[in-house]
Formats: sequence, structure tokens, C-alpha cells
Amino acid sequence: MIETQICFEVDGAVVSLADLADEYLVEMLAHTEAHIRQQVQRQLSGVRCAEHGAAPRVTVTASYAADVDQMELSYHVDACCPALLLRAVGALNR
Ligand SMILES: [Zn+2]
Repeated sequence: MIETQICFEVDGAVVSLADLADEYLVEMLAHTEAHIRQQVQRQLSGVRCAEHGAAPRVTVTASYAADVDQMELSYHVDACCPALLLRAVGALNR
């Protein structure tokens, strides 16, 4: 299991789903979160450091711009060493 953390920003402000009043938006972001988790698990399954045995940790920031209805995802990867970082980034970009 890859440790994945997902942060949401709406119109530039960090939000948590529990604080949002817009039900449509909450549903859309929750769906996005589930999708991102699945995708990260799939892409990084089996990616482990040969030397340290550790798996990469991923933080994804999903920034939603309501006015243009666009979602931008940025990935931050933590790894035990540069070799694993390279592998993880490569796997995420496959
Ligand atoms: Zn390592």
C-alpha cells in the first residue's frame, strides 16, 4: 500500500471536504480523491527501494478553479533516496 495524501485547494485556498458547503463540489472532489488514490496505487505498486526496502510516499495537491471549472494536480514524492525517487517519478509519469 502506497501512503498517499491528498490536499485540496479551491480557488487558491486550502480546503477540507468537511468544511465545504457545496454538495456538488464535495462529491466531485471526493470522486477525484478516490480516483487519484487508485491511480497512484496502480502506478506505484511494486515500486520499492532495492537498497532500503521502503516504498515512496506521495502527496497530491488537487487545485480546483471554479470559474473555469479546471482541476490541476501536482505530485510531491518523498523517498528514502534519489534512486527510489527517480523510479517513483518515472512510474507516475508512465
Ligand atoms: Zn532507498
